Amino acid sequence: MNAPTPVNLALDAEKQLVIEWSDGARRRYTVRELREKCPCATCREKRNAPQQGPQTMNAGVLELLPSGPRPDQVQIEAMSPVGHYAYSVTFSDGHDTGIYPLELLRELGTTV
Ligand SMILES: [Zn+2]
Repeated sequence: MNAPTPVNLALDAEKQLVIEWSDGARRRYTVRELREKCPCATCREKRNAPQQGPQTMNAGVLELLPSGPRPDQVQIEAMSPVGHYAYSVTFSDGHDTGIYPLELLRELGTTV
């Protein structure tokens, strides 16, 4: 049996991603969740990096940065299939190296 594949991708009224799957499942993904779970090497390294005390970006520091949207304001700008097994996602913060395998997409999000 083939693994389920997305048959429809859409952004809902709140600009969150909704995927309809070939097995009838419908899942909603917040952009924030997708961005935080980005599987690219850079993000994986960041997540695995040891906490560095004062240098760690916290909410206070983030607000002082002059450019770039805050994480909760990031949106999906584009999403395109990579072969038959994954999707690449371009976020509005300019990050576009994340390739999301279908397996990962099935684990993330919530059923709607
Ligand atoms: Zn990434």
